[in-house]
Parts: sequence; structure tokens; C-alpha cells
Amino acid sequence: MTTIVWFRQDLRLGDHPALDAAIQTGADQGHIIPVYIHPGYAPSDQTADATKPLYEGAAARWWRHHSLRSLAERLASCGSRLIIRQGEPLAELQRLIHETKANRVVWNRRMEPAARAEDTRIKAALRAEGINVDSFNGNYLHEPWTIQNKQGKPFKVFTPYWKAVVAAGLDLPTYPEPDNLPTVPRALNSLAIDELELLPAIAWDKDFYNHWQPGEPGAWSRFEDFLPLIDEYAEARNHLIGTGVSKLSAHLHFGEISPRQIVRYLLDTRGSVLEPRGIEHFVRELGWREFGAYLAYHYPQTVDAPLDARFLNFKWRDAPDDLRAWQRGQTGIPVVDAAMRCLWQTGWMHNRARMIVASFLTKNLLIDWRCGAAWFMDTLVDADEPSNTAGWQWTAGTGADAAPYFRIFNPVLQAEKFDPDGTFIRRWVPELARLENKYLFAPWTASETALAQAGIVLGKTYPEPISDLKVSRQRALVHFDQIKQNTTAP
Ligand SMILES: Cc1cc2nc3c(=O)[nH]c(=O)nc-3n(C[C@H](O)[C@H](O)[C@H](O)COP(=O)(O)OP(=O)(O)OC[C@H]3O[C@@H](n4cnc5c(N)ncnc54)[C@H](O)[C@@H]3O)c2cc1C
Repeated sequence: MTTIVWFRQDLRLGDHPALDAAIQTGADQGHIIPVYIHPGYAPSDQTADATKPLYEGAAARWWRHHSLRSLAERLASCGSRLIIRQGEPLAELQRLIHETKANRVVWNRRMEPAARAEDTRIKAALRAEGINVDSFNGNYLHEPWTIQNKQGKPFKVFTPYWKAVVAAGLDLPTYPEPDNLPTVPRALNSLAIDELELLPAIAWDKDFYNHWQPGEPGAWSRFEDFLPLIDEYAEARNHLIGTGVSKLSAHLHFGEISPRQIVRYLLDTRGSVLEPRGIEHFVRELGWREFGAYLAYHYPQTVDAPLDARFLNFKWRDAPDDLRAWQRGQTGIPVVDAAMRCLWQTGWMHNRARMIVASFLTKNLLIDWRCGAAWFMDTLVDADEPSNTAGWQWTAGTGADAAPYFRIFNPVLQAEKFDPDGTFIRRWVPELARLENKYLFAPWTASETALAQAGIVLGKTYPEPISDLKVSRQRALVHFDQIKQNTTAP
């Protein structure tokens, strides 16, 4: 039997159920053809056809380029070859089936609503042509349809959801990594990775190379670097400077390491993932990733609509200048600017920083969370539609298990608490580096002398705040109050 293994968000060889299934059924008699198909969609096509998976943003494309390169090397070291094609996935698969005489196609499932719709359509079309098609869970501990409340309904709140996941079991098997794979016919054509043109035309990505090593080996070395810190995770995860967290999100998003592998490794080396506190908390955060996928599966409309129906007609501000200042890290609120510049330069932002900038955009600036979510999708290396949607809807107060509408993060207090010595702000907003700590978090409160001594002229070397935090907080409370008095509860 010749089997096509279709790689998408699972760019690894270890714990790869689809690849394992191909190996189990007849690797010795036939070929295994590892394939990556790059969808040739332009961003503008997305609105035209909602069944097409989201176009990947620039930072994620950078990651994918290097991750594919790593996967191709790993396959080559097993005697195989990654076949790369570009175009409409069903047509490309049909072409490959014709060229290789394959009779089976396997893949690991994706959870983005548009991707699921595409997979369902492709599965039906190939089966109708007599091809065996099988899909597997390669990216989650438990898939969304397996976890329900006592009434058989989906959860909307994280804590009971996570309890149900833990009850379903975290001691899960993983699939072995192959040492050897059958060869791929020499005559089978493949594009070169460079031909996909995933890297930026203008070299804005220089800094990325200092921060990231995409691919399966990079994922494991990141995980190993994090392991000595895991016992401190529960506290250290809050420091904005980001040294206490794993930075595994992009590796997980591209499937270079699976959550099952992480949990398996912790169980094998530490005996439990429910204690001590650091490990329990870290694994629970993996649970938030699962919960994002769970919500996207059960409430697919929420990728671009509020889960809480009362927000459907919410009057967000149309304020393109404010949005641009936020995107560029020029709001005049140091912690917001530090976080947004960190995002631009490294493609990553700390979770608390994500909440701070999202709260500032949706509450202080009253700008639609979808504008922020779209910017994140374009600039994050870990841009992940389910996690991003859940994060934005949570912060905006429009989603499941959302932050209460009156919780408006005060960026000054947040910075004082989670960046007390100002390292994070000074790192990313160097024009404030010489300002004393007592003014660093709110430079507009500094005296003329203090500003002059630090070489700062507000409005010239660093912006005046684009929003008065007190006034805009009050405005948000009034707006959100009206919503809460509306009729339909979520
Ligand atoms: C507004 C907003 C947007 C977000 N957008 C994304 C996104 O596009 N992609 C993405 O992967 N995460 C997103 N998150 C979640 C979270 O911020 C990142 O997963 C986390 O900061 C990644 O850093 P880390 O790998 O060091 O996390 P760690 O703290 O080391 O956590 C380990 C892993 O758990 C998962 N995780 C942790 N926290 C969350 C969370 N709150 N929600 C979902 N998964 C979580 C991630 O896979 C992460 O790699 C968003 C959060 C917010 C508030």
C-alpha cells in the first residue's frame, strides 16, 4: 500500500499518529510519501470563501519556512523525502495520488473551523474516489468532542472543563519516532522550500534568528532549557521580562512538539503532572490551549463574532490613528509600547503583556477586539486562531469565561507589579531607559527636571499618552454597563 502522509500543523516525526499509521500498514510493501501542500490563497480570497483556512501572517510564514526545512532534513535522515507542492489542497492531493498510485491518505486533525471544513470536504471527495482516508489526533491531549458536562453539553467555563480533562486522563501514550522510512520515488517532483516565498522580501526578520530555532530539535531544546525553571513557573510566569515561561507556543502551534509528548515526559521524569505546583500550573496552561480549540470547535462562529450575543451590536470606536499608535508601540503608555515593540521585533509577547495590550485596546481605546486579533495573527510567530480568539474575547469580556467587563487592566499598576525594576520597559523602550523608576511606568507624571535629566521631551522623544487612563476607564465602564443591562445573557 502506498500512503500519502499530509503534514500541516504537525511538523515533526515523534508522536505523529498519522505517520505511525502509515508505517503500521504496509511500509515494507509500498511507499510512504510525506507531503506538505502550501495553500496558494491570497489573503483577499479568505473573505470570499469561509471554508478556506486562514492565510498565515508574515511572522508565522517565517516560522513555517524554517520548520519545513527542519522537517525535510529529519525526513532525509530517515531515508525519506518531503514532497512540497503548492495550490488547492484537494487538487494537489488528487494529482499526487495519480502520480504515486497511492491508495491511502492520512493526516492529523486541525481545529480551526475553516480548516475543519476543508478537511471534511477533502475526506469526502477522496473517499468518493475510492481512496482510504484516515485522520488522527496529533495535536491535543483530548479532542473537543470527547469532553462534555454532565448534561452532555460543551463547557463554557475553563475550570470545570479542565477538571473533566484531568478526569478523562493525562497519562496518555505517545507514538515512537521512526529511525528509517521507505524511500520516496526519485521521479516524484517537489518544489524547493524557497519557491514558496515564505520569507519576507524586506529583511525585517533579522532579530527573529536570535530568538528562535524553529523545528523539532529546536522545540525539544527549548523544552529542555525550560525544565530547570518549571518548579518556579507558578510565580515566575508573571514576570513581564519573560524568563520564567517556556516560549513553546510557536513550537506547539506548528506541532514540532506535541502536548502529549510534554505531559508524557513530565510523567516519566517527575511521576505526576498534578503536583508540585509549578508542574501542575504549567500543564494547566497547556489546558488553556486545549480550551481555545474546544471553544473554536463547539462555537465556530466565535473566530470573528462575540460569543456573548449582547456584544453583537456593540459600538466600538473607529479610531485608525489610535490603532496605528498601538500597533507601532507609540501610545505613550510605556508597558503597552514595550510589549508591542517586543512583538514586532521578536514575533512573541508574554501572556500578561498580551492581556495588558488587549485590555488597553478594547477598553481604554474602545477599539474592536477583532482589529487587535488580526494584528496579532499577522505579527505573532505563534499566531493560532483558536488561542488568539479565546485570548482576545476573554480580555474584551465578549467571550466564554471572560474577564468581567469592569476588569480593566491598569497598565501602570500592572507594570509596577510585574516589571518592578523596569527591565522589560527599558529593554524595549530605550528612549525611557534613563528615567527614574518612580516615573518610568507613567512618564507624564514626571517633573520637567526629571524628564530633562533622562533626556526625554514628551511629545518629541517619546509620545504623550494617547489616552487618559482614568477618563478612558470611566468611558469604558459606561459603554460596557449598557451592554450588561441588555437582555440576552450569553
Ligand atoms: C489577547 C491574547 C492573544 C493570544 N494569542 C495567542 C496565539 O495567537 N497563540 C498562542 O499560542 N497563544 C496565544 N495566547 C495565549 C498565551 O498568551 C500564549 O500561549 C503564551 O503567552 C505563550 O508563551 P509561552 O509559550 O511562554 O507560554 P507558557 O506560559 O510557557 O505556557 C505553555 C504553553 O501553554 C499554552 N498556553 C499558555 N497560556 C495560554 C493561554 N492563555 N491560552 C492558550 N494557550 C496558552 C501555550 O501553548 C504555551 O506555549 C494569547 C493570549 C491573549 C491574552
